[in-house]
Amino acid sequence: MRGAVIYGPGDVRVENLDDAMIVKPTDAVIRLAATCVCGSDLWDWRGINHVDQPTPMGHEYAGVVEAVGGDVENVKVGDFVIGSFFASDNTCPICQAGYQSSCVHREFVGGAQAGLLRVPLADGTLVATPGMPEPDLIPSLLAASDVLGTGWFGAVAAEVGPGKTVAVVGDGAVGLLAVLAAKQLGADRIIAMSRHASRQELAREFGATDIVEERGDAGVAKIMELTDGLGAHSVIEAVGTQESMMQAIHSTRAGGHVGFVGVSHDVEIPGEELFFSAVHLHGGPAPVRRFLPELIDLIWSRQIDPGKVFDLTLPLDDAAEGYKAMDERRAIKVLLQP
Ligand SMILES: [Zn+2]
Repeated sequence: MRGAVIYGPGDVRVENLDDAMIVKPTDAVIRLAATCVCGSDLWDWRGINHVDQPTPMGHEYAGVVEAVGGDVENVKVGDFVIGSFFASDNTCPICQAGYQSSCVHREFVGGAQAGLLRVPLADGTLVATPGMPEPDLIPSLLAASDVLGTGWFGAVAAEVGPGKTVAVVGDGAVGLLAVLAAKQLGADRIIAMSRHASRQELAREFGATDIVEERGDAGVAKIMELTDGLGAHSVIEAVGTQESMMQAIHSTRAGGHVGFVGVSHDVEIPGEELFFSAVHLHGGPAPVRRFLPELIDLIWSRQIDPGKVFDLTLPLDDAAEGYKAMDERRAIKVLLQP
């Protein structure tokens, strides 16, 4: 099979690799219908995460089950399935509480930018669609695997709901899909923080009612201006930097909720600022598995179209160009066709 491997900063190569295979009886192997480049892959590409050895890349996937291990019962060969970046048993107390990304048996699913993928704990991890999807649904189903599920969790963690004003920090695919989630969850007002025209447009399409272009303290001041000096009820942080996290906390009214889903890099929250903010903080790696059945249903019935975040499609062999386009912010999110 072909697969993308990172060797170091700015060095992703698509190579011939050994086919993914069943290793444990609880595994499945799927043939990817589509895969993509994640914002978090860029931390490796930029050299912010150190890459010790050549590492297969990719953790977002949708495709057809090619083989299953002897213990797999919930999916069968030929099913179209979606899973998340953490495999989970979906039975332990943590999974049962809805936090499958912290499953006591969790395993990271890597190497999805390839033709075939081994998925551990297939019964707990994979969710089958009602049938073979129309080709135009595949980008949206792929989005459910991570960016939609993550944006959705951000909105749920921020307690988005009817009557609430929501602010979203970050206009990457996760931030944009957090806007879509906020709309679906019934928010009254959704403020997208973005300074890029094409992203603002998509944010509006997904349900944003207001756009704030300012960042940092100026961005916070603008949110205050739009909320009678109170701050938003719910703020979704979808970047993971010091600036974005403090922008989120400071944009939230006392008693409000911050849902943080940007992978945190060197974020340090000053205790005194947190203390006087009087906000709820909840976030972490999104338990995408919790939301998959609902998200698949919304996509299947064409109520949402999260696949619009893919504004560039490339053959898998051009993965490096996909990383580059996202790094340079020429593309919001790149879909790769194996
Ligand atoms: Zn579990």
